[in-house]
Amino acid sequence: HQDQLLKLAGLPSRTLDGLQMQLAANISSIKELEQAMGKGASGVGLFRTEFLYMDRSTFPEEEEQFDVYREAAERLGGKTLVIRTLDIGGDKHLDYLELPEEENPSLGYRAIRVLLDRVDLFKTQLRAILRASHYGCIRIMYPMISTLEELKRANEILSEVKEELAAAGIPFSPRIPVGIMIELPAAVMISDLLAREVDFFSIGTNDLVQYVLAVDRMNEQVAHLYDPFHPAVLRMLKMTADSAKASGIHVSVCGELAGDVRSLPLWMSLGIHELSMSVSSILRMKNSLIQSRHSDAANLWQELAVCPSSAAVLQVLGQYWETDL
Ligand code: PEP
Ligand code: MG
Repeated sequence: HQDQLLKLAGLPSRTLDGLQMQLAANISSIKELEQAMGKGASGVGLFRTEFLYMDRSTFPEEEEQFDVYREAAERLGGKTLVIRTLDIGGDKHLDYLELPEEENPSLGYRAIRVLLDRVDLFKTQLRAILRASHYGCIRIMYPMISTLEELKRANEILSEVKEELAAAGIPFSPRIPVGIMIELPAAVMISDLLAREVDFFSIGTNDLVQYVLAVDRMNEQVAHLYDPFHPAVLRMLKMTADSAKASGIHVSVCGELAGDVRSLPLWMSLGIHELSMSVSSILRMKNSLIQSRHSDAANLWQELAVCPSSAAVLQVLGQYWETDL
């Protein structure tokens, strides 16, 4: 079966009626990037940079980060590489970064909250990313944005770094696209405002589901309540997609839900045409995509919008597949 799927790697990612969807990869190392290329990924929609900071005793220097980002961009040969700035804290720890003990780490000091405090670390990473942008098609993405001020502050710091590089005559791509993860309910609710300040959104359903439903994504005791098809989650996805569309910015999805074949008609109905997923999901998704019809999903949202439960949502999505295949 795997062999059969591998034959799909070189085929276009298109529905039977000609809609092109980008199926990109989530990666956290160069090794995974190689695997993603082997599966015919359209690019990298989420480069989790945490691995560069883990299993060591000091922060990685600019040069070391630059080498990795540049290598990744070059290996992609013109395909897009979305680099997410450090998303530490919450469930991800660094031995050499003393963070306070927290009762609720996922509601605490993590990701952009840390980097806006530790501008030295943020600038080092941004310098490395910007320098690498000269060698490929790189985009920057901030995680865990909850306010407009955070986004503006992050962009201010980015501008400072650009000025410093320009003054030193170091090459970088001046118009590098900048985006944010939409993974907090607050970000969804102000997505119309956030959309004016960025070039793209990427919906992080892993955290979004956790925060919308108040269900810790790591806690097995409540795992049965962790439900990406909950109508509340669906409405958040719809709102985000509509805000992006109204501002004319690009929107993609990079949480685990993006790699769940059942969700494909949902994305089509929302007008979301880029999905970034675990490398192991890409070919399975493509197999479904190339056998589906976009036109069958065109009016699906009307049905999804009134579903009272995730069971009802799954039934609507299931019917799509039955009529189609
Ligand atoms: C997410 O939250 O959906 C996401 C893609 O980021 P991570 O899983 O790294 O938190
Ligand atoms: Mg996340």
